[in-house]
Amino acid sequence: MRLECMSKSQNEAFARIVVASFASQLDPTIEELADVKTAVSEAVTNAIIHGYEEEKGTVVIECSIKDNEIEIIVEDHGKGIEDIEQARLPLYTSKPELERSGMGFTVMETFMDTVEVTSEQGVGTRVRMVK
Ligand code: ATP
Ligand code: MG
Repeated sequence: MRLECMSKSQNEAFARIVVASFASQLDPTIEELADVKTAVSEAVTNAIIHGYEEEKGTVVIECSIKDNEIEIIVEDHGKGIEDIEQARLPLYTSKPELERSGMGFTVMETFMDTVEVTSEQGVGTRVRMVK
């Protein structure tokens, strides 16, 4: 499944619902489904508010199922992350003025089995998650 949408905040809920309905073919528990939705929501929100900031661009969400696991990739072609290790630290945020708590990556790591982040400044960011 591949979904491409504009980096508008309304699309965060849309992406979350599309991924949840795709994931439902795995017969997940309500809790597992909630975990996936939360993780997708964090990754897509990051692409929208940090990747593109004021400008608009596209966010691509890809999902696939293999061996009873779901792989979800959330990708943007925004500004990229300068220091991925620092970005993944609990409570680190580059936007404290927007009242972000810096917990997005920590939430993704808590709810998914694997979280891989690749990013290049000026090129974009790709988050790959498996559960
Ligand atoms: P919260 O998710 O709790 O609202 P946050 O978004 O700042 O706060 P994280 O989601 O953990 O916290 O992200 C940490 C930091 O990583 C962000 O503040 C931002 O600097 C950077 N970041 C995350 N995703 C992206 C992205 N797609 N593009 C550019 N920078 C990103
Ligand atoms: Mg975040």
